[in-house]
This record gives sequence, C-alpha cells and structure tokens, in this order.
Amino acid sequence: MGSIVLKQVTKSFGTTKVIPPLDLEINDGEFVVFVGPSGCGKSTLLRLIAGLEDVSSGVIEIDGQDATSTPPAKRRLAMVFQSYALYPHMSVRRNIAFPLRMAGMDKAEQDRKVEAAAKVLNLTDYLERRPGQLSGGQRQRVAIGRAIVREPEAFLFDEPLSNLDAALRVGMRLEISELHERLKTTMIYVTHDQVEAMTMADKIVVLRAGYIEQVGSPLDLYRSPRNLFVAGFIGSPR
Ligand code: ADP
Ligand code: MG
Repeated sequence: MGSIVLKQVTKSFGTTKVIPPLDLEINDGEFVVFVGPSGCGKSTLLRLIAGLEDVSSGVIEIDGQDATSTPPAKRRLAMVFQSYALYPHMSVRRNIAFPLRMAGMDKAEQDRKVEAAAKVLNLTDYLERRPGQLSGGQRQRVAIGRAIVREPEAFLFDEPLSNLDAALRVGMRLEISELHERLKTTMIYVTHDQVEAMTMADKIVVLRAGYIEQVGSPLDLYRSPRNLFVAGFIGSPR
C-alpha cells in the first residue's frame, strides 16, 4: 500500500525535455519532500505521479502495479491544492464531500466520512460555513479534508502553504506533519522552501532542471551534500 516507483520516467512539452530519465522509489508511509528552485520540474513530477500529465516514456508503479496508463481518478492518490481551489459558494461540508458526491456515494455515507475528516482536522464547528468565512489555515484544512475523505494511498501536496502568511505557514507545517503521524499514509510534498523540506521530510529529493541531484534524509543531505548545489540549497556549512 502506498509505494510509488518511477522507472526511467521522462516528460517533454513539445521539443522541451523537462524531465530526463528519472528513477525514484517512495516507500509506503514515507513523507517525501521534492525541493528545488522554481521551474525545476517539481509540479510536473507530481502531476505525472498523479496522472494529471502523461509520461513521455517510462513506467510509474503504484503498490507494485504498473499504473502508467491508469487515469487519475483510479490511482487512489489525492492531490491537495492550495486553499483557493475551494468552491466559494459551497459550505465546508459540501466542499469536503465533493469527491464523494462525484463518485455517487450515498448521502449518509458521505456525511459519515466528512464528519470523520472534520474531526481529524478540527473543522467540526465549521462545516456549515462558506470558505469565505474561514481563516487561511482553516481553508487549507478544508482542502486537506477533501483529500482525506477519498482515503487515498498517498497524498500529493503542491506548495500547499505558499499563499499563507509566514506565521500561519509554521502552524500548518506542524499540522501536516501531525496528520502524517496519525494517518501514516505516504505523503509527497513539493516546496521550494528549504526549511519546510528539512523540518518535514523523512526523505528529501533535491531536484535541479528536472533531474535528481540527491536523495536522502535531512541529516544525510546536511552532513554529506553531494555537491555545492545541494549544499547551497540545503544550507549546509560545506
Ligand atoms: P516547478 O514546479 O519546479 O516550479 P514546473 O514543473 O512547473 O516547475 O515546470 C518545469 C518546467 O516545465 C518549466 O520550465 C515550465 O515552464 C515547463 N512546463 C511546465 N508545464 C508545462 C506545460 N504544460 N507546457 C509547457 N511547458 C511546461
Ligand atoms: Mg510548481
């Protein structure tokens, strides 16, 4: 459950090769952070894993099964978008239930799952509000709630905190780490923020121009950066 393996995956847009052949293994339950400068291919890689983009070549395996041509809805991975992806005219309840409603689940079952997710995320008292009546952090939790109800095998976060202010970011970072502790579900978290990478990750994948510079634990990368790019990016003393 929840393992993701990329074998010789490439992605080109037209004649521009954004991801050269790339191999990566993500184990079940790991919190993996993709970090690297803007434009290095973090979002593209996440979208390939989610199935929102097709690979140009190579294989993606989820739970040991070839999922390269599995459509996104069948991959059992939940992409968490920034909080502004919420529907402003719908209540929190309806926002969180959205994927369940789309899947045709009956109303009682939807409510049960929404209420369980709301409990985990401390949103129980806010279910009948609209997103506009919530704080930035609460809106971000609603976006996460919409992912949780699908009971995915992995959560994929693409810079989920980038439109929150600095103080709120610290709090949400802790909340997402705690959520990982509780759910023990695989999480892939994309950021260009070194502090987020160092504090949240079990495993950091440092990307540069579409290829992997280094993979390792925060401590590994800090102590033994492979080159100056990694050292500079991670903030190692080397
Ligand atoms: P990051 O998320 O690390 O900032 P992206 O994955 O968004 O980087 O983009 C990586 C590269 O791929 C960039 O040069 C970007 O311009 C290009 N790119 C991303 N999506 C597309 C697309 N749909 N069409 C053409 N080029 C794209
Ligand atoms: Mg991006």
